Amino acid sequence: MKNEPLRVLFVTTEAYPFAKTGGLADVSASLPRALLKTGVDIRVIMPLYGSIAKDGHKIKKAAGPIRHKFSGRIFGFDLLSNSDDGILTYFIKNEKYFARRGLYGTSLGDYPDNALRFGFFSKAALAAAETLKFKPHIIHCNDWQTALIPFYLNFVLNNDDFFKGIKTLFTIHNLAYQGVFGKIFTRGLGIPAKFFNADQLEFYNKLNFMKSGISYADSINTVSRKYAEEIMTPEYGCGLEGLLAARGGDLSGIPNGVDYKEWDPRNDKFIKENYSPATLDKKKACKKDLLKCIGLDFPQDRPLIGYVGRFAYQKGVDIIAGVAAHMRELNAAMVILGKGDAEYKRLLKEIARKYPENIRITQVLDEELAHKIEAGSDIFLMPSRYEPCGLNQMYSIRYGTIPVVRATGGLDDVVVDFDDDRYNGNGFKFIPIDSAACLRSVKRAIMYYENSEVWRKLMLQAMKCDFSWEHSASEYVKLYEKMTE
Ligand code: ADP
Repeated sequence: MKNEPLRVLFVTTEAYPFAKTGGLADVSASLPRALLKTGVDIRVIMPLYGSIAKDGHKIKKAAGPIRHKFSGRIFGFDLLSNSDDGILTYFIKNEKYFARRGLYGTSLGDYPDNALRFGFFSKAALAAAETLKFKPHIIHCNDWQTALIPFYLNFVLNNDDFFKGIKTLFTIHNLAYQGVFGKIFTRGLGIPAKFFNADQLEFYNKLNFMKSGISYADSINTVSRKYAEEIMTPEYGCGLEGLLAARGGDLSGIPNGVDYKEWDPRNDKFIKENYSPATLDKKKACKKDLLKCIGLDFPQDRPLIGYVGRFAYQKGVDIIAGVAAHMRELNAAMVILGKGDAEYKRLLKEIARKYPENIRITQVLDEELAHKIEAGSDIFLMPSRYEPCGLNQMYSIRYGTIPVVRATGGLDDVVVDFDDDRYNGNGFKFIPIDSAACLRSVKRAIMYYENSEVWRKLMLQAMKCDFSWEHSASEYVKLYEKMTE
């Protein structure tokens, strides 16, 4: 093995630019790219959603139709591929499960057959590797959707020569989404009844995909050091803290990095003017452009606070709304971009209606506007209840857009609270989960913003921080190598 490159099959359910609902898509695009640079022979595999062809991505046929026998049942799919960006990405095509616009559901909720959809995807990813005769050293599984793969390898394909010796790494990008489904699905997924008990895949009389990943993968990791510690506690463990602690010896935290090809004001293709620490004044043109784009007539010299992210409980959207209600008295403005839960949409819309001179909300997925917000805002808000890693705080720091964050998970690892004695730090942090604490931090940030000399130093200091993937990719390589020893 020593003389051949490490072969890795990276199994994911979203990857930018093909399909994206959140950070997993960014990671699934940039980590494989960084691993490829280290010499790893990496292939990515994901479902072919209906949206991918409609969005005009060039996909060509790789194999198929493939008919595969799995737990005594035959199932079929086609395999397509794309390698435009240097990464060989395979797509599993199956009309019944994936020819839908949404990845996981619609605005009304999750698709009711998600257990079967992603169980199918996991089996198909394994079948595809065999069809392609690509025997990886490591199958790198991501989140609950791919968590049955270690189970299938250990208990269904254990006598199949092709799969012998393959190791699995299970990466938890978000422990709160575990893939919990009715017991009824076990049969369709090829899971024998004897595994349906609390020590294995059962979770309060339901089937829990995530338990399979945690229990049966050879190694487990999550996407920041702090979150790796947090998930072994009842506060953050979502009911799986005991299981995670029991596997603590195989659990590590490897922070996500930033793809600076996409997220750097020096070369960002979406923003009005590119800038760097040497040309920081050009950031003002980005602010002006952002205000124009969102139709907000607001003084250029007053603070503009940005937020981009899912409208979800995790993200503290209620806390954001609580802070937004103070924008007028602070003579500040807020721009919010996101999609998600109806109750938060309502809450934010109501605030925006009340303070039309200070607040704008855009409720779509808009990659371009996300970049404009990073470049054009002065402050970026992330009051997450928990945050496995978080990308936007790292993007903001590179854009000189100072983050105000709750000290949890990757936010706590990345953001260093500004200390004006030593001029140390790149943002502002608070701990209590409430709007009052967040507002105090926002006020602290605005106090410094009003001293343009201090603020400029803080921006320049932040922009020097480097969260590029190279370091994290080398940690993954070390972990892969350790697993294959
Ligand atoms: P999570 O994966 O929990 O949603 P992350 O911070 O890890 O959060 O990643 C979120 C990614 O999704 C970021 O790249 C962010 O810019 C992007 N994003 C979230 N919502 C939107 C939206 N409405 N429009 C454009 N990009 C979005």
